[in-house]
Amino acid sequence: MTYVTHLEARYEKYRNGGIADFIRDTLPKKLACEIDVTSLASSHRNSAAICALSSKLYPAMAATAACNCADCRKPIPEDAGLHIVRRKDLPRYIEAGRPVQLRWGANVKVASADLPTLNFGRAKGLGFDRILIYPTARMVSWLMNPQIKLEGETRAKLYVALTRARHVVAVVHDIPHGQSIPGFSIYD
Ligand SMILES: [Zn+2]
Repeated sequence: MTYVTHLEARYEKYRNGGIADFIRDTLPKKLACEIDVTSLASSHRNSAAICALSSKLYPAMAATAACNCADCRKPIPEDAGLHIVRRKDLPRYIEAGRPVQLRWGANVKVASADLPTLNFGRAKGLGFDRILIYPTARMVSWLMNPQIKLEGETRAKLYVALTRARHVVAVVHDIPHGQSIPGFSIYD
């Protein structure tokens, strides 16, 4: 509660301009430019589930909603949604879904050398049906509990990553059996 109140006070001036202005003003210029700022109140790209999750990264901002256009995000694939994929299941998952792989940097090893792979900060203006995120440990912590404090750059990069996807966000994580992440299903 204290955290949200603090953010609301600090970011009051962004209330009307919303998340786009906030991102432009507060993040490193290079990173800010790589975030879509054209239509953040209503997304023509991201599904409702993706909007709901990504909006939690900036709780003091007005949440983004999925658009209701007749042709955006149609047809909806059967695997639409948020998924956790364990490393041992990656080959099978990748073969079926052919996602674009997103990672922090070139030092992060990806499961497929054949699929397109982008760093979080370098996906400017791009949208894909399916993305596969290789998260940092802090990103996983936030996904498990969106109330935790997440550093600005990590927060922004997770926002960029999540909002690349039209239908499917998959996150690589060896989640222990019996655990879950809110809003996510576990691929098996
Ligand atoms: Zn639309």
